Amino acid sequence: MEIYYSSTRGKESHVTASQAILKGLADDGGLFMPDRIPALERPLKDFASMSYQETAYEVMKLFLTDFTEEELKSCIARAYDSKFDTEEIAPLVKADGAYYLELFHGSTIAFKDMALSILPHLMTTAARKNKVEDTIVILTATSGDTGKAAMAGFADVEGTKIIVFYPKGGVSRVQELQMVTQKGDNTAVVAITGNFDDAQSGVKRIFGDKEFAVELSASGYRLSSANSINIGRLVPQIVYYVYAYAKLLAHGEIEEGEAINITVPTGNFGNILAAYFAKKLGVPVHKLICASNDNKVLFDFFQTGVYDRRREFILTTSPSMDILISSNLERLLYLAADCDSAETSRLMSELSEKGVYEITPSMKEKMKDFTGGFADQKENAEEIRHVFKDTGYLIDTHTGVASAVYRAYQKSSGDETKTVIASTASPYKFSRSVMEAVCDPCETKLPEDEFELIDRMEQLSGVAQPTAVKEIRDAAIRHNRQCTPEEMKNMVREILK
Ligand SMILES: *Cc1c(COP(=O)(O)O)cnc(C)c1O
Repeated sequence: MEIYYSSTRGKESHVTASQAILKGLADDGGLFMPDRIPALERPLKDFASMSYQETAYEVMKLFLTDFTEEELKSCIARAYDSKFDTEEIAPLVKADGAYYLELFHGSTIAFKDMALSILPHLMTTAARKNKVEDTIVILTATSGDTGKAAMAGFADVEGTKIIVFYPKGGVSRVQELQMVTQKGDNTAVVAITGNFDDAQSGVKRIFGDKEFAVELSASGYRLSSANSINIGRLVPQIVYYVYAYAKLLAHGEIEEGEAINITVPTGNFGNILAAYFAKKLGVPVHKLICASNDNKVLFDFFQTGVYDRRREFILTTSPSMDILISSNLERLLYLAADCDSAETSRLMSELSEKGVYEITPSMKEKMKDFTGGFADQKENAEEIRHVFKDTGYLIDTHTGVASAVYRAYQKSSGDETKTVIASTASPYKFSRSVMEAVCDPCETKLPEDEFELIDRMEQLSGVAQPTAVKEIRDAAIRHNRQCTPEEMKNMVREILK
């Protein structure tokens, strides 16, 4: 049965999956949601023997109903290939009593690759299906990982251009180097003098600018988004939760029907929302544990029902989670309000006008699958050190937050449910913070040079450094643009000239 998409803010409905992917954001500023959430068509034990690609097809076909089998399978085959350094694509590693789902084996060594290696293919297929001839311009705000993963996905993809904005000083050295050395004639990178929320708000403003859209259209351009608000990001992310559950079954770690917990280091709320969708599809999930760093706006929200972004923005050692406005939460609000778009719009207006909103007790009740937790930078570092010392397994600073939050949850709740922790980045991507955590107190001073530090990490962990790191060692800097959040629109104009 066909699935259509509607805006969470109610002014757009009956949109096909391919149209929703092309648009990214709805015209009314809302996010696209499927009119119903389908169920898996086969029992989970059937998935136990499936490859990642086969699982991807079984899951994605449920949501992207206007793609043909051939189209979808071709997108999947082109996305999940040798760009990933393991055939498993998303391996599960058991360490210290939890299951770390490694989502960082793609070309940019963070979990954004899971969706962004397929999005360009979904988007160009969608353009073909909808007879769009304009050049698609991907506009993306990044806290570090999305931007690079999106560029890696879209670089030199015909009929597309991509412009990435990142907060200057708000990303790790490796992340910045990965972005400014990006190849591809259709890529552009701009540093913003502001934080991630400034970059994201700037991008949203440009998307909402109708006059600008007309101006661009006259030049043969059409804007689209690769941010996690795009349904073409959300759907591929559901796949690995189904896959992880099936692998636990296949390895005899759980019984059929046994519920698991899923802990996700959360920023924009896309990854954990995908886990929630997996639950709705039929994967037995007990608790979804939403892990935050010092920017614990989501922890407070799940605690109190009040979302309040009026607080200091803290730069942490887990920069991809340094966010005060979690865009995808709007989708959960919409579901919790029984798809009441008027109520969702009202809450979103309160957020943009007052910086705060409160949900009703009945909405809060509907979110009880979720529990929030947070770990500050010290707790995070302690967790990374502890896991490494006890098991020899080295995790990054985002996974560290999730791991610390999970352990605190387990202690306080006594919940012994087996737990999958989304491991969202390779420790090599956040080498300095990880090494500081592991080597503290250090007998020898850590090298200033990023790459010497990385070599040190390789010796220590025994895990070979990924190709993604080797590549940036000698790569030429290709991008050096910078602007204020107010100048973003002009910058887009200039780049497209
Ligand atoms: C993007 C990102 C996150 C946060 O994921 P969301 O889907 O935005 O909640 C966590 N960890 C890493 C390494 C990331 O790149």
